[in-house]
Amino acid sequence: MVQATNYILGLDLDGTCADFYGRMREIAAVWTNQALDSLPPVTSWSLSNWGIDDEDYQEFHRYAVTEHGLFETMAPLDGAPQALQRLEAEGLRIRIITHRLIMSSLHETTVLQTVRWLDRFRIPYWDLCFLREKDDVNAHLYLEDAPFNVERLVVAGNDVIMMENGTNRDLTISVASASSWEGAEPMIRQRYYDWLDAHDLSRPGHPGAVPHWREVGNAPHSSTEGEEVLNAP
Ligand SMILES: [Mg+2]
Repeated sequence: MVQATNYILGLDLDGTCADFYGRMREIAAVWTNQALDSLPPVTSWSLSNWGIDDEDYQEFHRYAVTEHGLFETMAPLDGAPQALQRLEAEGLRIRIITHRLIMSSLHETTVLQTVRWLDRFRIPYWDLCFLREKDDVNAHLYLEDAPFNVERLVVAGNDVIMMENGTNRDLTISVASASSWEGAEPMIRQRYYDWLDAHDLSRPGHPGAVPHWREVGNAPHSSTEGEEVLNAP
């Protein structure tokens, strides 16, 4: 079995890196012909308080992607690209895990918009996983906002940091959480540095610094026989 030994962050996009609900609110105002200011911030998983019922969601989603370029016109959450650039430089491996392929006729457009958005905002990533069962990635840590994903990952014993927003405010499960990237970044770093310590790897000199073991071209090592050690991009 090939097993990478880097510390892996399983990173959700919508509501975690990208201001999905802010952009959807703008598009919903156009779709429902309402003034933007009259639409409240998202307060639940449902968008019914914007006048979009669950049975309308698929049609609204298609409209948002095809007519408004949803996945390439969202703003990043404040500080997300910069935090991820620092963490990636420090040797953390970012695997993006998103469940955006919900309509088969939109797959090509969705993937294209996603990659363009990641390039535009210079968000580093090792690979890009379009999948629903996020724990299939077997990450060391997950950053996630969707309440059902957070609950599933926590119950399965995964380390999770929840990005707080209106969709998960009623979640009662015990989980570490942050309300911003300013809060999330040091939480991710602490977990990563603990992992470095446990693997006898030196910590970076400061946030955003390249660690010595990466400067000299060595990837993190492991005593597990037969593992393939992959260099970070
Ligand atoms: Mg999300």
